[in-house]
Amino acid sequence: MVIVMKAKASQDQINNVEKLLKDLKLGVHVSIGSERTIIGVIGDKRKLADTPLEIMPGVDRLVPIMEPFKLVGKTFKPESSIVTVGDVEIGGNSLVMMAGPCAVESQEQLMETALFLRDQGVQFLRGGAYKPRTSPYSFQGLGEEGLKLLAEVRKETGMLIVSEVVSNDSLEKAIKYVDVVQVGARNMQNFDLLQNVGRSKMPVVLKRGLSSNIEEWLNAAEYIMGEGNYKVILCERGIRTFETYTRNTLDLSSVPIIKETSHLPIIVDPSHGTGKWNLVTPMARAGIAAGADGLMVEVHPNPQTALSDGNQSLNFESFKTLVDEIQKIAPILKREFSK
Ligand code: PEP
Ligand code: MN
Repeated sequence: MVIVMKAKASQDQINNVEKLLKDLKLGVHVSIGSERTIIGVIGDKRKLADTPLEIMPGVDRLVPIMEPFKLVGKTFKPESSIVTVGDVEIGGNSLVMMAGPCAVESQEQLMETALFLRDQGVQFLRGGAYKPRTSPYSFQGLGEEGLKLLAEVRKETGMLIVSEVVSNDSLEKAIKYVDVVQVGARNMQNFDLLQNVGRSKMPVVLKRGLSSNIEEWLNAAEYIMGEGNYKVILCERGIRTFETYTRNTLDLSSVPIIKETSHLPIIVDPSHGTGKWNLVTPMARAGIAAGADGLMVEVHPNPQTALSDGNQSLNFESFKTLVDEIQKIAPILKREFSK
């Protein structure tokens, strides 16, 4: 349930409501909007049965939440959230770009890619050290060694680092080296991992599950936020359908749906969303046009030799084209992206 305070409610009146709820051991989330304050309540609402909540000074009305999720929803927090990492804001007016190789392969590969991407205005270097591969015989990533290489490149370039965690153990390790953790499609419903990411308070990119609907995806974000971590960035990466021309079907309608339903920022991953490098730039353009707050793109100095996801990785030349085109589209949407 949310308590909508009157536009002219005083701070004392807000505090009184908050105190009543806290005394009843209910979860309280105060969201101060530009016009009025909204107080979200989590817990057993039967506790409120004999309270004067509805007639307390400053209270306008009580609104039940119909959706199965609360913290991620717009009812709970009508204003868009901005996730700040270092000096970069995700969900603000400027578009963010997360890019890099699917897997960290070597110091040379990573450094060469990072220097190129930084030059293109990319704020986040993304590379996987723990790779959840479909086949157990495929390259599984360098593990902690890969994280160390990422941290080294951060020191050299000043770029922010994003890397995937696949277990509580890899999360514990990644926290020491990265700025943002990624929970991949395969782990979107690993609830134990989600809760640990929540407790870690690390900014997190939460990808949509392979066959998850939007409600399941938002509930996964709710698991993280339920532990007090509000730094959640959603990432649409396509879902499995009967189509075989593409690896996944990039569901761009989720972008405006998320914008209507949730206050969380959302980025689009056209690399996994299509599985084919030649489709990445058109779908990146479409993602931004649909209202995404940024992109996650796989880039490799030589995609033909990539140890993972070479088919969908852009080479430097193609990525440059993508950036140029996004730069042209951004102002039409009243967004900024500067190199
Ligand atoms: C990845 O980002 O390399 C990855 C494995 O993505 P997803 O979880 O979307 O498949
Ligand atoms: Mn990949």
